[in-house]
Amino acid sequence: MTTLRTRRRLEMQGLVQGVGLRAYVHRLAVAHHLSGFVRNRGAVLDIEIQGLREDAEAFTQALGGSLPVGARIDALAATIRPPGLERDFRILTSALESAGASIPPDWPMCGECRREMLDPADRRFRYPFTHCAACGPRASVLLDLPYDRERTSMFRFAPCAACESEVRDPRDRRFHAQNVACPACGPRLRLIMAPGGAAPFGRARRADDPVRAAAGLLSRGAILAVKGYGGYQVIADASRAETVERLRARKARPEEPLSVLVADLDAARALVEVGEHAEALTGAMRPIVVARASAAPSPMPSRPDSTRWD
Ligand SMILES: [Zn+2]
Ligand SMILES: [Zn+2]
Repeated sequence: MTTLRTRRRLEMQGLVQGVGLRAYVHRLAVAHHLSGFVRNRGAVLDIEIQGLREDAEAFTQALGGSLPVGARIDALAATIRPPGLERDFRILTSALESAGASIPPDWPMCGECRREMLDPADRRFRYPFTHCAACGPRASVLLDLPYDRERTSMFRFAPCAACESEVRDPRDRRFHAQNVACPACGPRLRLIMAPGGAAPFGRARRADDPVRAAAGLLSRGAILAVKGYGGYQVIADASRAETVERLRARKARPEEPLSVLVADLDAARALVEVGEHAEALTGAMRPIVVARASAAPSPMPSRPDSTRWD
């Protein structure tokens, strides 16, 4: 019996960068005993696989099967290539050629990262910049394509040894993630009061815990500018009519809608007709959802004269 070997190049287009596809392709190729490489090349994800023909075919068929959340293949072109000498499958440095590449979107924190962040035993306990290969900021941190750490605003934060080993481990869900950070090596929160700004709201207690201190200030009617990966979000307690009026005056937005953050579906149901929006509100992408106000909108928890929705 002859064993037929082949080398093929697959050029993949679509939403193929910043979505964990290189790590996914690497795992799949190793599982199918293939050598070769994967790399970003501008708008394209280049894959070259080499091995038994049946393995190459099984790999190609499996490719679209369980894509990482957010990845989308619009076009896949396959060509036969002359055999190469590699013995294993590698993720190569991106070829610097960015014309026409689509910019990967930001992704909300995934369930696994959230579990880590809430686990007192985890090294990322209460760390707000927790993310992995399947979630976290992309477009917001991107300085240039292709999407690699040195071309994101995370280039200032060198990963610590623990983060580095996650990124290098093909079995880790942070394998080859570009922005991995932890409390030891990543950005940190701090609370800065505007000159004279603290006075009406009392002292911000627990300055060692900026999140608790910020929550305390919000509940006393303060307006905060939260600087995250993607710039500033101005936030206030939507259940305080006076605060919302002050926010509108400062932003010179007397009546345009403001986005309201809700903790979960039940909180959303208290304000709007959730109906067919349930999936968007809880799905992986979690976009801003425009929904109809409830027939009898219950007030925002605890206060009757809250922001109106429409
Ligand atoms: Zn995650
Ligand atoms: Zn780290």
